[in-house]
Amino acid sequence: MISMQSVEKHFGELHVLQNINIEVPVGQVVIVLGPSGSGKSTLCRTINRLEPIDSGAIAVDGKVLPSEGKALAGLRADVGMVFQSFNLFAHKTILQNVMLAPTKVRKQSKTEAKDNALRLLERVGIANQADKYPAQLSGGQQQRVAIARALAMNPKVMLFDEPTSALDPEMVNEVLDVMTSLAHEGMTMLVVTHEMGFARRAGNRVIFMADGEIVEDTDPESFFTHPTSDRAKDFLGKIL
Ligand code: ATP
Ligand code: MG
Repeated sequence: MISMQSVEKHFGELHVLQNINIEVPVGQVVIVLGPSGSGKSTLCRTINRLEPIDSGAIAVDGKVLPSEGKALAGLRADVGMVFQSFNLFAHKTILQNVMLAPTKVRKQSKTEAKDNALRLLERVGIANQADKYPAQLSGGQQQRVAIARALAMNPKVMLFDEPTSALDPEMVNEVLDVMTSLAHEGMTMLVVTHEMGFARRAGNRVIFMADGEIVEDTDPESFFTHPTSDRAKDFLGKIL
């Protein structure tokens, strides 16, 4: 569903992605781990072309992403993305936030977009907040709105870049629970996270990055119990 082949990227002198090869099959949840600065966010951002790549190929649902143009907008709509910062539109209500892209990009009617948005808000457990503004919600609630907003485009895959890192600890689980149920429903997901419990429970695979390279690509149980590389051992030693 997501396929990255021989992807290379530099930021000036910095070789931020080095020979990245990743296959995420339909319905799999792939967890991306690695120290700060290893290139995890950059990797996510290249998948929907928020960052251009120097060479290699990236395909989503069998379609190679072009670097620009109308086709890009279409393919980007297939990739839902949730960031650490919720990025909701402050002057729009929760309902309007979720309805916006489907009406503008997918050309859904207002009625259809509203029905869909309310159903998604129900699914993430905040339908009763639909008429509030983002600032009136807790961080965990705002992040659940951000997930509903991404789902409203009916994406083929969902990318999460540290979706719980900005949250107070007591709100982390309400967001992870939504992600876990998405995973159980068969959504194809690539998740950058520091939540090791979630990685172990919900991940089908772990990709460990260091200095722009994939150092390990294995199942969660093996990664957490028998990491093979020194860099992964060092990383796990610091966080577990
Ligand atoms: P963190 O865990 O802290 O979020 P990360 O693994 O997501 O780290 P990236 O944000 O992908 O790391 O950054 C990888 C490297 O690329 C870092 O050294 C960063 O400083 C650099 N970098 C990221 N974005 C840019 C940019 N737009 N221009 C130049 N350098 C950048
Ligand atoms: Mg990052």
